[in-house]
Amino acid sequence: MSKKTPQAIRGTQDIFGADAEAFAFVVETFERVRRLYRFRRVEMPVFEKTEVFARSLGETTDVVSKEMYSFDDRGGESLTLRPEFTAGIARAFLTNGWQQYAPLKVATHGPLFRYERPQKGRYRQFHQIDAEVIGAGEPQADVELLAMADQLLRELGIHDVTLHLNTLGDGESREAWRAALIEYFRAVKDQLSEESQERLEKNPLRILDSKDPRDKPFLADAPKIDAFLSEEASAFFAAVTSGLDAAGVKWVRAESLVRGLDYYRHTAFEFIPDEGSASAAALGSQSTVLGGGRYDGLMESLGGAPTPAVGWAAGIERLAMLVGQRPEEPIEIAVIPMNEGALLKAIEVAQEFRLSGFSTEIFARGNVKKRFNRADQAGAMAAMIIGDDEIASGTLQFKNLATGEQSTVDLAGSVERAWELRLDRDAGGIDTMLGDLEGAVDALDDAN
Ligand code: ATP
Ligand code: MG
Repeated sequence: MSKKTPQAIRGTQDIFGADAEAFAFVVETFERVRRLYRFRRVEMPVFEKTEVFARSLGETTDVVSKEMYSFDDRGGESLTLRPEFTAGIARAFLTNGWQQYAPLKVATHGPLFRYERPQKGRYRQFHQIDAEVIGAGEPQADVELLAMADQLLRELGIHDVTLHLNTLGDGESREAWRAALIEYFRAVKDQLSEESQERLEKNPLRILDSKDPRDKPFLADAPKIDAFLSEEASAFFAAVTSGLDAAGVKWVRAESLVRGLDYYRHTAFEFIPDEGSASAAALGSQSTVLGGGRYDGLMESLGGAPTPAVGWAAGIERLAMLVGQRPEEPIEIAVIPMNEGALLKAIEVAQEFRLSGFSTEIFARGNVKKRFNRADQAGAMAAMIIGDDEIASGTLQFKNLATGEQSTVDLAGSVERAWELRLDRDAGGIDTMLGDLEGAVDALDDAN
């Protein structure tokens, strides 16, 4: 070859097949669950003025200091590909006058960009689902948002991931805690990792998050937020935890959990795979699947009025890894023309089935035997077979692929039969479900 094919950009992914099905399953489940909690969908720009992120995330955060994709556009303005959703949504809340809808519950999903070292579960273009409640200062908002996250994970079939919960207190508590941390770590500064030394004065909370073995010995005895919580902040946290208990959401206290971004107040949380679980094994060291918290200070950093808000985001790729590969859905109807002359009729028949809501594929390649084999492999319930006789008589051969039964019917009749087959199939599913339910009830009776 004289010309070399350009390669994909490092840290991007081309997602296909069973992985793409898992990705779609995560997004579809999120779309369903967010409706149950009455979150409204928003679509946001992929890029913003750089200051939207620099001002709201804080200059000392990893994302702003080293991970942003920023560039000057042709007009000389500095723009940045969004590294997260929250800042853009906050900007939109202010610039569009969305205050009128407060408390505003919104959800979105899409690609984000961070200049990171690519590895398993960590990419330069990745995707998140995101949920935010803006203009709600009540702890009930935190509870509802966390209950939604918990339900989402369950409906994805993920049961070995637990909510780790902390409070960072209000502004006052957090400042006092911060000062105590600086004092504590300053005394052992020389023994800390370079990164933690650097963070000491600017962002000491982040030292608690360090995975460096040189920092670890000092983490357990570091000052705890609880000693600095104002009465109000304690009451807020208590309301969150009792709300979670009422909603049946399991949680554990994680005293050293801090979030990477400066704007968090009060509630901070991450959903993390349980130690030794299948999800922990699947994710390796990239263990947080969903994270967020309350960001009551963010709107002011963007020049808006003080506005309490809380939100979370989860990496779709990481959730998809936990969901595991998913097979593509089997098709329902196979249309098989027996010869070249039957092709147009096959197109007409396939169209009729698709318009009637059946997933349908035409199998017109290879010899007739191959066509049937492919239809079988694709999992079709029934085949519509069209040859010269059928064209002459305006009929089809309707073949039930499970039983092998075959009969001659017209097009309208065949759509009707397909409905019956589908009903039988779904009823079988419901029977199995009812059987499972009865089994579960019996087991409960036995247990009591
Ligand atoms: P980490 O500590 O793993 O870098 P983070 O604190 O930077 O995470 P957030 O900004 O809280 O992550 O983003 C929320 C979620 O988005 C993470 O829990 C993770 O599932 C996902 N995520 C973050 N960065 C990446 C990335 N580079 N590639 C894939 N997923 C990511
Ligand atoms: Mg990160």
